[in-house]
Amino acid sequence: MVKKTKQIIRTRFAPSPTGFLHIGSLRTALYTYLLAKQNNGQFVLRLEDTDTKRYVEGAEQALFKGLKWAGLQHDEGPDIGGPYKPYKQSERLDIYKKYAQELLDKDKAYYCFCDEPTLEAMRQEQTAKKQAPKYDGRCLKLSKDEVAQKLAKQEPHTIRMKIPAGRVIEINDLVRGNISYNSNELDDQILLKADGYPTYHLAVVADDHEMAITHVTRTEEWLPSTPKHILLYEYFGWDAPQWAHLPLLLNEDRTKMSKRKGDVAVDDYIKKGYLSEAMVNYLAFLGWNPGTEKEIYSMDGLLRDFSLAKVHKAGAVFNLEKLNWYNAQYLKQLPDEKLLAACQPYLPTTHNFNQEQLIKILNLEKERSANLSAIGENVKFFFELPTYDKALLKWKEMTDEKIKESLAVSKKLLAEISDENFTAENIKSILMSEAEKMPSLSRGKALRDRGELLWPLRVALSGQKNSPPPFEIAEILGKEESVKRIVAAIEKLS
Ligand code: GLU
Repeated sequence: MVKKTKQIIRTRFAPSPTGFLHIGSLRTALYTYLLAKQNNGQFVLRLEDTDTKRYVEGAEQALFKGLKWAGLQHDEGPDIGGPYKPYKQSERLDIYKKYAQELLDKDKAYYCFCDEPTLEAMRQEQTAKKQAPKYDGRCLKLSKDEVAQKLAKQEPHTIRMKIPAGRVIEINDLVRGNISYNSNELDDQILLKADGYPTYHLAVVADDHEMAITHVTRTEEWLPSTPKHILLYEYFGWDAPQWAHLPLLLNEDRTKMSKRKGDVAVDDYIKKGYLSEAMVNYLAFLGWNPGTEKEIYSMDGLLRDFSLAKVHKAGAVFNLEKLNWYNAQYLKQLPDEKLLAACQPYLPTTHNFNQEQLIKILNLEKERSANLSAIGENVKFFFELPTYDKALLKWKEMTDEKIKESLAVSKKLLAEISDENFTAENIKSILMSEAEKMPSLSRGKALRDRGELLWPLRVALSGQKNSPPPFEIAEILGKEESVKRIVAAIEKLS
């Protein structure tokens, strides 16, 4: 449970801008946001951009866009500032240098002059001896004079933290309970790199402290780093925040959710036209559930019921079908005007349909579409008849001649309906009573098979194997266009 305290809860989402917002990161951001906001606290966005090798142009924009889309508005951040600015680590280098120096002064850190080939040789030797690769502490043995000389000669160096031997370090995690580590398993972590940039470990501790963060929420892959962070808090004499290590998102095969197995970028889901409410609802359930049957949750509902105490320890499998199910639930609820506005980017820009017709089209297709782009795909035939193979017109064993006869009947019946009576309901009742009267065309017997009338007509109107019933399509297309499409189908068979 979150400690009962008068202290204001401050959480942070601290992504590295490495190109895109990962769907798992959005889930972390969501839990982080909920924890702050359900306690009237603050949700901080901080960019951890000190890994200059991984910097990607435009990545920050992708982060802002994804968070905004999901409705996770931060209270402080690089774009809006705040009392603890700057919120971008690359603009805080002096702070990290100051703290690295403080640790050197307290004898909790030391200079390391080992270059990459030396470290690589060390790793290889240890691996050959089946030891876990770890810095062997050789620069710790340098005398003060030796260090001073090397510094005077401006030899490239890093600053490493000292790790005490044989200490048991306890993490009291809000999700995972008590976990202990032995300090002998820890490496003398580099804190400040040769280029003057901090590593994640120094920067995250310095910033979480400086920004008065009370709760650190991140995925469990960071758990092994936490004992180092606990030591750093101790070295500085700072109060540590509370930790909550969240379960990872997994592919169906229980490997870490990765690009190779499907879409992982939030932007991919935005582009495909998933509704943000559906995504937020689904993501909330990836690692948490309220312990009831209730599955549909708005952000307000989540703010009320979400609890870190109910977050699971086991990884959560991301299942596209379940996301589609959520999206379908939200699509169903969407008022017509909102549905139209949401689908607009996926519709052709020029057409002759009015707003009412468009809404009818979208409502017809939304039931069988996973997302807005799928709706866009599925409604295309209304705007332009696609080219289709004449074989598609065939119902069961009907011959081309019989199909033509059937289409001719449909054409005649539709043409006879007046424009004002050209509604799905009327068209249906006329066609159905005709279909009832028709003997089976294919078998020449008096067996009734509505498909003989309705299938060729439906394909003629839509050019699709699957589509809504022909009556609705005909109403939307209007008499003239419907008849034109039937004539085109008859011609295909001639
Ligand atoms: N910058 C880390 C990341 O990209 C965040 C880890 C943390 O939240 O402490 O995931």
